[in-house]
Amino acid sequence: MTCGPREAIRRLARLPVKLAAQSVLDGVLPRALGRRLEDRAGPFARAVWVQPLRIPFGRCANEMLYTRRNLSPFGTITVVDQTKRPLGSRRSFLATLGTLASSSTAAAACQSAPAARARLRTSPGRIDVHHHFFPPAYVAAEDARPAVSRRVSSAQLSSWTPEQSLELMDKNGIATAIGSVASQGVWHGDIAAARRLSREWNEYAAEQVHKYPRRFGFFATVALPDLEGSLREVEHSFDTLKADGIALVSTYDAKYLGDPAFSPVFEELNRRSAVVFVHPTVAACCGNTVPFLRPQVVEFPFDTTRTIVSLLVSGTLSKLANIRWIFSHGGGATPMLAGRLADYLEEGPDHQLVKDKLPRGVLYELRKLYYDTASVTSEGAMAALLNLVPAQQIMFGTDYPFVQTAASIAELSHIKISSADRTAIERTNAERLLSRLAQ
Ligand SMILES: [Zn+2]
Repeated sequence: MTCGPREAIRRLARLPVKLAAQSVLDGVLPRALGRRLEDRAGPFARAVWVQPLRIPFGRCANEMLYTRRNLSPFGTITVVDQTKRPLGSRRSFLATLGTLASSSTAAAACQSAPAARARLRTSPGRIDVHHHFFPPAYVAAEDARPAVSRRVSSAQLSSWTPEQSLELMDKNGIATAIGSVASQGVWHGDIAAARRLSREWNEYAAEQVHKYPRRFGFFATVALPDLEGSLREVEHSFDTLKADGIALVSTYDAKYLGDPAFSPVFEELNRRSAVVFVHPTVAACCGNTVPFLRPQVVEFPFDTTRTIVSLLVSGTLSKLANIRWIFSHGGGATPMLAGRLADYLEEGPDHQLVKDKLPRGVLYELRKLYYDTASVTSEGAMAALLNLVPAQQIMFGTDYPFVQTAASIAELSHIKISSADRTAIERTNAERLLSRLAQ
């Protein structure tokens, strides 16, 4: 038997959900609720709420996050703000939910085959938020620069076409890919060249989206650290080219993204509530720390970590809270270091300074970010990420063409998560963030 929203809500009202340890927020059903909650609790509360509506209550794990106080479908509900839970509690929290689910006839009914089929109908294919485009002008410029050592040859990159991406996507169940610039970005010390290159990259990407609107999107590139050029490109990308977001690399001229020098650009991105995708690059400090080891192996994840910490400690994450951040590769080492960061920043000698900048705490800020799955497909890496954030903060990313797509999808398929969480990671979280794809 299927569970429509009203029926599921009626059943939820009977569930013995006890979430005394969680802080709760009140809201009003149905759709306007998402925005109200987002205002009050940040994007995660909205994630918790919108997700089950989208899945039409076919799977009931997330519904256990609600208690229902009023049987009217437009009545008051209580939503758990999971960002308040202590680190490491996810497993016990989910175990609690699992107990509730198994003890509930309503939950059991929600797992029926028709509901599962309904869920599949609402999930037509993966959305890849980490997929690189190689416009001809970009490849030509990149070839003229010192190469970041690649797993893919220059010849392969220069022969790339959007149709190659489509072929790979078709073979791997990927409905839509959001293109972004690769790790070298567009900045190599020349303002005019960087402005020209970012404009060329963005216009080429926009053409592909125009040609294949359901198959491609793009995160526009900007010419940081050039503020004037970047602000102009942000305006052009959103207002004229209809970009889905902005792509940045983790560091520019030895400055991490929390550096005050970049504030005007982030203030503008915050004003626009922009999606900002952050990709690692080779940092000035740390390109060749271990001889013979390519920087992608160790330095890329650490550079992502450094820039997240820079944004955290500078107060950018808390102050400019409208920006919806997606960090590549599961945030690098961030999931492993989250507890350490919280301990040192909140209890160390500078704790008052940190408290002023992070009034809601370190973990709150880290848990509201989004992280992609590229290179996080092993059990250990995904366990660390899932211990930091719920599945609603994780998005499918291939890192095409630098990672073998089929192999990473196969690896991801072995991760033990519920099918609702898998659907969220592979598609619906991206739909929620990139609203154009949900239409
Ligand atoms: Zn990448």
